[in-house]
Amino acid sequence: MFFFFVGGVNQQVGQVLKSGAGRCIACGSRADLVECEKVLQLFFVPVWRWPGKEPLMYCNNCNSLFPPKFSPPPPPSADSPPPRQLPDSAFSDVLRCQFCSREVDPSFRFCPFCGSSL
Ligand SMILES: [Zn+2]
Ligand SMILES: [Zn+2]
Repeated sequence: MFFFFVGGVNQQVGQVLKSGAGRCIACGSRADLVECEKVLQLFFVPVWRWPGKEPLMYCNNCNSLFPPKFSPPPPPSADSPPPRQLPDSAFSDVLRCQFCSREVDPSFRFCPFCGSSL
């Protein structure tokens, strides 16, 4: 088979699967997850070994290609939702009868212990 190396990494990079999916291992800037085909044959030194259809990380800044597993996750962006806080309803669900001070189910309308209206 014959592979013509035109020059320029754009010949190797296919469809962008996820923009900004990671960071460049070479320069640290934002890298995209791209789908590359036949990238092994385009490398003069086959450093990596992977099937032809494996997605790769591609850095637009320094034109680096590298496997996604070597890329650290992207820095947290400001628009990402904050971590979910645990509901503090674990204590507020407990209702105490104001007459006998016993714990009663909040769905009850009358205290089962003393019969007072809740
Ligand atoms: Zn880079
Ligand atoms: Zn009561």
